[in-house]
Amino acid sequence: MRTANYAVIGNPIGHSKSPEIHAAFAAQTGQDMAYTRLLAPLDGFAACVRRFIADGASGANVTVPFKLEACALATRLSGRARAAGAVNTLRFEAGGGPEGGGAIFGDNTDGVGLVADIVKNAGVALAGRRILLLGAGGAARGVLLPLLEQLPESVVVANRTPATAQEWVRRFRADQEPFFGGGAGGVRLEACGFEGLSGRFDVVINATSASLESQMPPLADGLFAFGGLAYEMVYGKEPSPFMRFAAAQGAQARDGLGMLVEQAAEAFLIWRGVRPDTAPVFAQLRAAL
Ligand code: NDP
Repeated sequence: MRTANYAVIGNPIGHSKSPEIHAAFAAQTGQDMAYTRLLAPLDGFAACVRRFIADGASGANVTVPFKLEACALATRLSGRARAAGAVNTLRFEAGGGPEGGGAIFGDNTDGVGLVADIVKNAGVALAGRRILLLGAGGAARGVLLPLLEQLPESVVVANRTPATAQEWVRRFRADQEPFFGGGAGGVRLEACGFEGLSGRFDVVINATSASLESQMPPLADGLFAFGGLAYEMVYGKEPSPFMRFAAAQGAQARDGLGMLVEQAAEAFLIWRGVRPDTAPVFAQLRAAL
């Protein structure tokens, strides 16, 4: 059997930890695979994927800024990728594609990765909880359906540009009629700006990119329920401004390293049919930060 080839495709891509994560998963599960980084030109994502397929590759992860293009390129989408409108995992399949070519299956594992890190690793249940999701970009869109599937009491989406969040939530509701009409109609879903926020939340998820500029959304005091969870999607050696703010408000702060490892484990499962143990890989990455 030949070695199966995978890559993470993005621009920039040098910072990606995915090769280390998948190498560790492959060693742990005895899978014969190679995983590299591919820098695609900003106007050359589809060509890069097609070349990779022509070279005999089996699949790819997709990162900034190509997740929407990957969604358009896929010939078959999972329900969660369709709901997100974004794809971070591609599996290349023999036959079944247009004009006799291979099919490209597109999935989005960011949301399951986040939920696994919160529920399994942090031990915080989401069922019946009040969730505040900050941001309305690709990361927020990727996680909304998996969050709703946990049947929280409510999800409030707050964004710097309120209209973006409101329009997205309006369309999401219309597209996800099977979810809301299928017994989950009791989950409250709302969108607003940061200044419109009131009440207390059990789980606050920062899916904005503010932390990348050492900033945080302008949050008022008193939004965290006692002992609530503040989840920062970005990760790093030091806590972000959002994490420091949350800790000062009495919340338990957690960064997005676990989400990164868990979304990778779900992609690995999609490709290889085996779920790796994430705990040792998470510990290895944390130690190397
Ligand atoms: P996008 O560029 O698609 O969206 C950015 C979002 O952040 C928008 O909602 C934007 O609001 C908001 N925003 C940007 N700057 C600020 C600011 N200064 N204050 C308040 N809001 C701001 O990015 P993504 O959604 O793709 O990524 C968001 C973050 O999530 C990134 O930092 C990324 O690294 C991280 N991420 C982590 C993952 C993990 O595995 N740990 C996986 C995926 C993403 P507006 O609409 O007003 O512009």
